[in-house]
Amino acid sequence: MKKSLLADRCRSFADYITIAKKQGIYPYFQPVDQSWGTEVEVKGKRLIMIGSNDYLGLSHDPRVQEAAQRGVHRWGTGPGGSRFLSGNTTLLEELEERLADLVGKKRAVVHVTGFSANLGALACLLSPNDILLGDRENHASILQGWQASRSRLATFAHNDALSASKKLAELSKKPCSGVTMLVTEGIFSMSGDVVTLPELVNLKNQYPDLLFYLDDAHGLGVMGNQGRGTADHFGLTNHMDFIMGTFSKALASIGGFIASDDEVVMEYLRHHSKTLIFSAALASSNTAAVLAVLDIIAQEPERIDRLKSISRRVYNGYKEIGLRVNHHPTHIMPIHIGDEIKAAFFSKDLFEHGIFALPALYPAVPKGQALIRTAFMSTHQDRQIDFILEVLEKLAKKYRIQTFDQEAEAAVLPQKQLAQL
Ligand code: PMP
Repeated sequence: MKKSLLADRCRSFADYITIAKKQGIYPYFQPVDQSWGTEVEVKGKRLIMIGSNDYLGLSHDPRVQEAAQRGVHRWGTGPGGSRFLSGNTTLLEELEERLADLVGKKRAVVHVTGFSANLGALACLLSPNDILLGDRENHASILQGWQASRSRLATFAHNDALSASKKLAELSKKPCSGVTMLVTEGIFSMSGDVVTLPELVNLKNQYPDLLFYLDDAHGLGVMGNQGRGTADHFGLTNHMDFIMGTFSKALASIGGFIASDDEVVMEYLRHHSKTLIFSAALASSNTAAVLAVLDIIAQEPERIDRLKSISRRVYNGYKEIGLRVNHHPTHIMPIHIGDEIKAAFFSKDLFEHGIFALPALYPAVPKGQALIRTAFMSTHQDRQIDFILEVLEKLAKKYRIQTFDQEAEAAVLPQKQLAQL
């Protein structure tokens, strides 16, 4: 029962952080002094932001800011309790109706963050007899939800329906008294990959009882008709048993929700999600902001069009520079680096050039696949994109991360390993 055990356990990690800070390559927890949306000030330096999830740039829209203020005036700055008790509002109920309508489901239940929506929902929907079949690159909140549910976890190769099908075949050999729920994301948070939804939904032909849970944190507000999300983009909303979304990305606020056509299950969730019952309600400023954003998205579809055109332009720009790109352009565009230290130095260099973008390291991405996560906003201006591409071209050469460099390195690596034998 030694008190110092805890500190001992954390020591090597703390040492690692201290070394990174001394070398000036610790990139996280940057305190932003002021934000203008596509530009921010950090330590007295103005930077172009390409690391934000405010994809439609609406958190600085005066209509959204005014709605948030009106919410504060009418309901106060804090909710005063959980929704279950004193913290529920007519505004939250209005928002749930609007969200259900947006994603094409009968009912939605709002939580205080996207993370707590996944955690609370999965933990109470799944039980120890059930199986969560998840993409290997699913978000941490999904894993936390699975852990809390104490259900069984089975995973399939990232975005690979064939791998999911093989896993289901394996699982079906043993009798399972519970349900199997396939959980995946609409647009993957780090890679920007669009889910192979039609192929995954085809699995329902063979396994009609398979439940489908889509975390559309990064697709909501951006994908589909009028931002209805990734399931709508594929015309597959009816095949989704649950759609989860968050307000912290395109919806310019904070909070999250789960939507479903199964009103009985949603009623159960409303009374059993521990992160909803035992946590304070979403503040009215945030709730009102989301409602204002939903109005703007419906009235100004050109914002989504602009984001798409920026994404295409950046995608082509990355390709011209010789950077590895995904099959499709999306507003999340990773710069593949590989080595973690190299990624940290790359990010530092970006800051020095006036660009804010951070590295994603293991466990946020698979080991050895460090990347710089760049994400774009519909409010980015053409001159900002020109500047970003100019800097990236220079740094791609400096850090030898163009595809031909990476291919040459990959070819040399096995020889090096052989030589070490
Ligand atoms: N799901 C995914 C796929 C995410 O990327 C995130 C956050 N980045 C969340 C859930 C959690 O959402 P929030 O930040 O709103 O809590």
